[in-house]
Amino acid sequence: MPSTAIINASQILTLAGPARPRVGWEMRELGIIDKGALLIENGRVAKVGPTEEISNSFTKETQIIDAGGRLILPGFVDAHTHLVFAGNRLDEYEQRLSGTSYQEIAAAGGGIKKTVALTRAATEEELLTQAKKHSNWFLSSGTTTIEAKSGYGLSLESELKILKVIKRVNDETPLKCVPTFLGAHAFPPEFADDHHGYVRLIIEEILPAVTEQGLAEFCDAFCEKGYFTVEQCFEIMNRAHALGLGLRLHADQLSSSGGANLAAEMGAVTADHLEHTDDYGIAALRAARVQPVLLPGSVYALGLSKYPDAKRMVDESLAVVLATDFNPGSSPTTSMPMILSLACTQMQLLPAEAVVAATINAAYSLKRGHEIGSLEPGKAADFVIFDCEDYREIPYYFGKPSVWKTFVAGEYCFSTS
Ligand SMILES: [Zn+2]
Repeated sequence: MPSTAIINASQILTLAGPARPRVGWEMRELGIIDKGALLIENGRVAKVGPTEEISNSFTKETQIIDAGGRLILPGFVDAHTHLVFAGNRLDEYEQRLSGTSYQEIAAAGGGIKKTVALTRAATEEELLTQAKKHSNWFLSSGTTTIEAKSGYGLSLESELKILKVIKRVNDETPLKCVPTFLGAHAFPPEFADDHHGYVRLIIEEILPAVTEQGLAEFCDAFCEKGYFTVEQCFEIMNRAHALGLGLRLHADQLSSSGGANLAAEMGAVTADHLEHTDDYGIAALRAARVQPVLLPGSVYALGLSKYPDAKRMVDESLAVVLATDFNPGSSPTTSMPMILSLACTQMQLLPAEAVVAATINAAYSLKRGHEIGSLEPGKAADFVIFDCEDYREIPYYFGKPSVWKTFVAGEYCFSTS
């Protein structure tokens, strides 16, 4: 059987461990193999161990790649992105830097409204071209699986168009995409004065169409003052659950709005953001085993200073996840290395905790923990060779491109040389 071997890694972070999300002190366990090697067969990890030991398994046909003393990690799993949108928000970026507030920009027709208008006007092919460009950015930053949300269409036709683009990115590029329906991202202009009507449209028409066509695995909603109320989110999540979708929730991003409690009550898989979650919210997440998905990139990019209390969540044994929140408004980054740096420097996570949050814990939050997120025999050979020797260099040398090669299913799909 033809096989590929990667030899002479300074460290392989296997993330081997129990088949469940890691909590508390387990988040410091990386399963490191020094001077490691990885044997790959049929796109899967066959063996992982010291190079001297793994070399005994080579045949004449084994293709050997010398890592040259570099670091190997499982590919990052980015559990919260808004992959598909048209255009960008460069003008607003500049306006905000000149003192115009996010609210003033939104009131003048900017913000999410602008992206919705552009995304509705774009064809499926145009959206796909842009999404593929961004997929390459993810792969070149060491990310091999992302969760991708709809939410810039806000009509039956446009939401389906976005979800089809996500499916095509998954099918036509090496980047694996887990699709989430986020029709409850904002109220579209035609329902500005009829919020009830839009919630009915989601529940009665859009959600059934999305599930009938098998275009989403999860449903998400933006639970926040001025967006969707706890009651509206409850109704939408209830319907989504009945239709077989897993649940995620944008919770407590701008205020303590009851989002964490709702996520716990609904048995959501994740509650995302949590910048303003109080003690009760954290206790509720813990009791219901909801995974917090923390998004420090959006705090940074909006020039804010209140990061979620990640350390406390780790201490409380929550299975913390880190993600980029890639979107054109509040977090225009595809870089998990940057997110790791923010998590360590701004939220005081240890580098090992940040790595666990960005790989194996993220994989479990997407119901993919059996398949990706660690380098153990039988799992997908999705991994990254970083041009450094020690994993702590990734958050430490922030801003430096550090990926040497990215592999999906044992094939390399990005390489700097
Ligand atoms: Zn988001």
